[in-house]
Amino acid sequence: MNDYIVRATALEGRIRAFGAVTTQLVEELRQRHQATPVATAAMGRAATVGAVMGLMLKGDNRLTIQIKGGGPIGQIIVDANARGEVRAYASNPHVDLPLNLIGKLDVAGAVGTNGFLNVIKDMGLKNPYQGSVEIISGELGEDFAYYFSQSEQTPSVVGVGVLVDRDYTVKVAGGFILQLLPGVSGEDVSYIEEQLSKVPGVTSLLSEGATPEQILENLIPGPVKFLEREPVRFQCTCSHERLEKVLISLGEGELQSMIDEDQGAEVECSFCKEKYYFSDEHLMTLIDRIKEK
Ligand SMILES: [Zn+2]
Repeated sequence: MNDYIVRATALEGRIRAFGAVTTQLVEELRQRHQATPVATAAMGRAATVGAVMGLMLKGDNRLTIQIKGGGPIGQIIVDANARGEVRAYASNPHVDLPLNLIGKLDVAGAVGTNGFLNVIKDMGLKNPYQGSVEIISGELGEDFAYYFSQSEQTPSVVGVGVLVDRDYTVKVAGGFILQLLPGVSGEDVSYIEEQLSKVPGVTSLLSEGATPEQILENLIPGPVKFLEREPVRFQCTCSHERLEKVLISLGEGELQSMIDEDQGAEVECSFCKEKYYFSDEHLMTLIDRIKEK
């Protein structure tokens, strides 16, 4: 199954839903970052929700999610846009932890539960939108649900999962977001809660071959109306030009010492791990540009 996200509505528009399969995206994250299973699961869950949140935006708008829970994975950063392009990294993708008490990858242990989940949306306005909530579970699905209810005033159910195979590759990844809009009855909410407790988790369903559409149909009362199906993929926006700006921001002294001590500079993009080489001559032109300012 190629990665995609389907949008849907139900209950005459009182539920807005998204179903996602992101196996290839998360496998690419794993490979690019040489991530351990628990780091793959944490980054993959965050990137899956990020992909959906990107598609909630319009046009050229984009968003960044920052998860900083104080755990050994450090911070997780996800960038996504309305075209289904996603990139992510974790400061320590090599974190390794024993399985948790229920025999699952210990995502909460890696992320930590003492910190914040921040969302920054660049909507082309002067000041970007910023929302922030405390991390309450560290498993991330619940944390994003908390974010939607607290920061965006939209009660939501978020289910997200990554299943890592025995050979450490990503077997399946995906998730769903159900947003309860005004007018949803208590009965509908109880139905969803009951289904959530009965239906197997996202990764079990996906590995049995269920589609995101079927996952949504399992959870939502009444007929589900499916709207667009959007492809999602890993895509980095780095370039020589962008990394020039990073180098310029380091300042003249730092660039001069790169020339004196290192003979050129190799800069690695945090998101995709692509390496960019800058010669001494190139660094000198950057110093000239700093001086011109
Ligand atoms: Zn990159």
